[in-house]
Amino acid sequence: MSTVTEKAAVERQGVPHYRMFIGGEWVDSDEQYEVINPATEELVATAAKGTTAHADAAVAAAKRSFEEGVWRNTPPVERAAVLDRVLATLASRMDELAELGSRECGFPLRLSQAISVGFPLMHIQHFADLTRAYEWERPGPVTGQVLNAQLVRREPIGVCLGIVPWNFPLVLGAWKAIPALAAGNSVVIKVDEKTPTAQLELATMLREAGLPDGVYNVVTGDGETVGAHLVAHPDVRKVSFTGSTEVGREVMRTAAETIKKVTLELGGKGPNIVLDDADLDAAVDGSLYAFLLHAGQACESGTRLLLPTALHDEFVERLIARLKTLKIGNPLDAGTDIGPVMNAVQRDRILGYIERGKKEGATLAHGGTSPSGPGFEKGFWVEPTVFTDVTNDMCIAREEIFGPVLSVLRYDSVDEAIKIANDTEYGLSAGVWSQDVQRALDVARRLQAGSIWINDWHNISQHMPFGGYKQSGNGRELGPDALDEFTEEKAITIDLTGHVSRRAYGLVIGTPPATA
Ligand code: NAD
Repeated sequence: MSTVTEKAAVERQGVPHYRMFIGGEWVDSDEQYEVINPATEELVATAAKGTTAHADAAVAAAKRSFEEGVWRNTPPVERAAVLDRVLATLASRMDELAELGSRECGFPLRLSQAISVGFPLMHIQHFADLTRAYEWERPGPVTGQVLNAQLVRREPIGVCLGIVPWNFPLVLGAWKAIPALAAGNSVVIKVDEKTPTAQLELATMLREAGLPDGVYNVVTGDGETVGAHLVAHPDVRKVSFTGSTEVGREVMRTAAETIKKVTLELGGKGPNIVLDDADLDAAVDGSLYAFLLHAGQACESGTRLLLPTALHDEFVERLIARLKTLKIGNPLDAGTDIGPVMNAVQRDRILGYIERGKKEGATLAHGGTSPSGPGFEKGFWVEPTVFTDVTNDMCIAREEIFGPVLSVLRYDSVDEAIKIANDTEYGLSAGVWSQDVQRALDVARRLQAGSIWINDWHNISQHMPFGGYKQSGNGRELGPDALDEFTEEKAITIDLTGHVSRRAYGLVIGTPPATA
C-alpha cells in the first residue's frame, strides 16, 4: 500500500493530469501533452507542457534553495536518511509504478517490476550507502619542506540539470537526481515529453521524505525549446544528459558557452562476439536478450552479433527458432515477452532502417514488418528482425536503430572479430560468449566500450561505473565514485610554519626589513 499522501496528479477528464513541480509547488500550464499507451494508443495521462518561463522559474527556485543552504548544509548521513525514506516509499509503490511505466512506455509488466522500478530501488540504496561512506573531506599529505597541512573537500556544484529520455524514465532520472541530491546540490530535471510521470511521482516521495522545497524541481517541455534553454541557462552549473548522440553533441556545444560541467550518456551499437567455444544454448538466448530488451529501445543493447563462420548457420538457425517462441503483445499481459515501440515516429524510423538494410544487400532472415491481425489493430509494433550477410560498412551495422533489429556479421579470426567490434564511433557496451573465461577476458580487455559482459548482457550493476567510450558519452554514472560527477573538488592548504621568513614570499616581495 502506498505511504504517499500527496498526489502528483489530479483527475481531469477521466485521466490523471500531471503538473510540473517547481519550488515546492505544483505548477500547471496553458498547454498540455497527451501521454499515450504505445500498445493501445489509449490516453494514459495528460501533462502540463512547460515553457522557457517555467524553466527559468525552476532554475531560480533551485538557485534560491542552494543559496539558502539548508539542504547542502544538511549532514550527509541525514541526506542519506532522506534517500532511505524515498526507498521505502518507492518499494511500497512498486506494483503501481511498474504498471504506470508499462502503460506509459510499453515495457512488459514483468520486466517493468524488475527493471523500471527494481533498478531504481537498488540504485537509490547504493547512493544512500555511498553518501554515508563517501570521503566528503580527506586529508592531503603534510609536506615538510615548507610545513603545510592539506585538506581535500568535495562540495556540491550548485544547480544541476538532468535531461532524461523516454526509454527508462524512472531509472535514468534517478541516476541523475539521486546522486546530485545526495551530494547536496539543487536539481532541475527536464523529463521527456512522452514519459513525464515517473519523475513527478518521485517529487512527491522526495518531499514527503523531508527534502526542502526548491531543491528538486521537475519541468516538462520540448527538448529543442525548454531543454535547450535550460542547457544554456547561466545559473545551471552542471548538465547530466542522457539521450541521442546527436542531441548530446548540441548539449556539449551549448554548455561550452558557460563552461558547465557535462556528463553525457549517449547512443550505442553494441558488438556481441560469440567465440567458437561458447555454450550455444546460453549464447542464443543471451543474444536475443541483448537486442530485444524493451523492443530494442535500450542504449546498451547488443545489436551487432559477430559469429565465427564455422558456427554461423547453426547459430542463426537456432536463434530464429528460439525467436519464434517469443510472444509479442500487450505489455500488461503476463505472458508478453516483447512489447511495442514508443510511437509512430519510432516505428517508421525502424521500418525505414529495415528497408535500407534490404537495399544495402543484407539478407532479411526473420521479421521485417509490423505485425498485423488481432491484438495489433492499434499501437506501434515492429516484428523482431534479424539480418544476416551484414558487413560493417552497412548503415544497419553503423547506426543506432533503437528498435528490435539485429545485424549478424561473420568473422574468421578473433583478431578480425575485435577489429569489427571496435570499428564504430560508439563505445557503450560489448559482449563475449565463451566457456573459457580467461579467453573471453583477453578479448574483453581489447574491446573499446564502457561496459563489457562476458556470457551475459544488460547486467548493469550499481557497484560498477556505467558510461561510454568515444561518441557514446563522457563521464560515468553509478559505481563507487558516482558522487564525483556531482561535486566540485576543493584543495585547502594550511601554513604550519608560523613564520613569514620561511615562506616563498621573498622570491616576489623581497626579505622583510629587520626589526629592532
Ligand atoms: P533525444 O536525444 O531525442 O532526447 C533526450 C532528451 O533530450 C529528451 O528529454 C528531449 O526532450 C531532450 N532534448 C531534445 N533536444 C534537445 C536539445 N536541443 N537540448 C536539450 N535537450 C533536448 O533522445 P531520445 O530519442 O529521447 O532517446 C533515445 C536516445 O537516448 C538513444 O540514442 C539512446 O541510445 C540514448 N540513451 C542513452 C542512454 C545511456 O545511458 N547511454 C540511456 C538511454 C538512452
